Amino acid sequence: MDYGPAPEASGEVRAWLKARGTFGHFIDGAFTKPGKTFATADPATGEVLAKVAAGSVKDVAEAVKAARAAQPGWGRLSGHERAKWLYALARHIQKRERFLAVLETLDNGKPIRESRDIDVPLAARHFYHHAGWAEMLAEEFPGASPVGVCGQIIPWNFPLLMLAWKIAPALAAGNTVVLKPAEYTPLTALAFAEICAEVGLPKGVVNIVTGDGETGAALVAAEVDKIAFTGSTEVGRAIRKATAGTGKALTLELGGKSPFVVFADADLDAAVEGVVDAIWFNQGQVCCAGSRILVQEAVAATFQNRLKARLGKLRVGDPLDKSTDVGAIVDPVQLTRIRDLVAKGEAQGAKLHQAAAQLPAKGCYFAPGFFTDVAPANIVSEAEIFGPVATLTTFRTPDEALALANNTRYGLAASIWSENINLALDVAAKVKAGVVWVNSTNVFDAGAGFGGYRESGFGREGGREGMREYLAEPTPRARAEVAAV
Ligand code: NAD
Repeated sequence: MDYGPAPEASGEVRAWLKARGTFGHFIDGAFTKPGKTFATADPATGEVLAKVAAGSVKDVAEAVKAARAAQPGWGRLSGHERAKWLYALARHIQKRERFLAVLETLDNGKPIRESRDIDVPLAARHFYHHAGWAEMLAEEFPGASPVGVCGQIIPWNFPLLMLAWKIAPALAAGNTVVLKPAEYTPLTALAFAEICAEVGLPKGVVNIVTGDGETGAALVAAEVDKIAFTGSTEVGRAIRKATAGTGKALTLELGGKSPFVVFADADLDAAVEGVVDAIWFNQGQVCCAGSRILVQEAVAATFQNRLKARLGKLRVGDPLDKSTDVGAIVDPVQLTRIRDLVAKGEAQGAKLHQAAAQLPAKGCYFAPGFFTDVAPANIVSEAEIFGPVATLTTFRTPDEALALANNTRYGLAASIWSENINLALDVAAKVKAGVVWVNSTNVFDAGAGFGGYRESGFGREGGREGMREYLAEPTPRARAEVAAV
């Protein structure tokens, strides 16, 4: 393992932030002069990192206008031409990977090991993968055309990676985009805008407008052909209402309360490590976090003991320290939300087991943990905490495990642990979730579709299914013409 002090790109990031100071929007290939601004801070220290523009209805309209003007030209390029741009974006992300990792960690609070080894490489991988789709588009989707101008709204938990999930397939399919990053974490999107300018991407193809929910609502209401949203179920519901009857295409990637099922015959040590990745990774701020641990009764006591021992070894603290396992919560508002929910869970009778880690004196930290003695009616049985705290309950039979796993209004992901592959695959097929992992968790690949059922949303991102979301269905005539060739 790689331990040590803050990575050397820190100085470069600080110099970059200092030189920019205040960021405008990225519209039509250039940064605008910022008008009204808001601050974005490092949640580990509270230090203001930069000021960014608060997008107005007018800013959004200008960005959409630029995207609209650029779309026909971009859409007419051959898939091979578009692939060259996507490869260039991927290579530039790789070239600046240390810089982007440090910037992400500063703005979000996630451990540098995660932004360096997961967020940034997967973002580059997403552009590489979709360059391949651009190359093969005509063959794989004959007769299909782009949707047009896509409005894309993303959350703060994986800022650069969610940007890649949105922009790469949209561009590969010949769409142009206006993307709004989350207000807590706009900086890597702005660095990406610089990368677009650096590689010489045709202007107007990618536009970034920063701001909060009001800017997001303005984008939803703007003259776009599609809205792609990742965020909370509550906002997803509002967006679905706002787009109803408008003819705008819509995909929603929303919340979850995903089951993590441990059968008695599982490799318990591996399953304990799985919990680390499922709920303590990224401070539990993961839409598909394995936040409901279900353990078969026969091994529940052993599993709980091992989990507590592992919890005690987690290193909580400075996100820029390479040995940190659990960093800072993204913002004081989110920290308060987590504290409130956990306090309610305790007040309603659940027992909290929390790491005895020494938390830094200042900054947005929450000691990771898990609940036992959780009654079904307890708020933490159902509510998405979106922090580093899982619930642990027990079951007796596979049928009971399945019933518990499916007893949720969400349906994003599930993780099944058993050495009996027949049992694992049988249960996996019956869990109502968009992604089911067996003896693993939180494994992502650009080639695999990701998305939910029920209140976790609809539509898929990644792979063939994800590409389909950014293509208009071919007309019957186009289909017939293709068939006749
Ligand atoms: P959020 O819904 O508050 O914000 C998400 C984005 O929507 C932000 O950019 C925000 O500015 C914008 N927004 C807020 N109000 C809006 C409105 N009325 N109209 C348009 N845009 C608006 O969510 P969050 O707190 O940033 O993220 C946490 C949630 O996101 C969790 O519930 C989590 O499960 C979910 N999430 C889901 C996935 C997934 O792929 N399914 C991935 C990451 C996060």
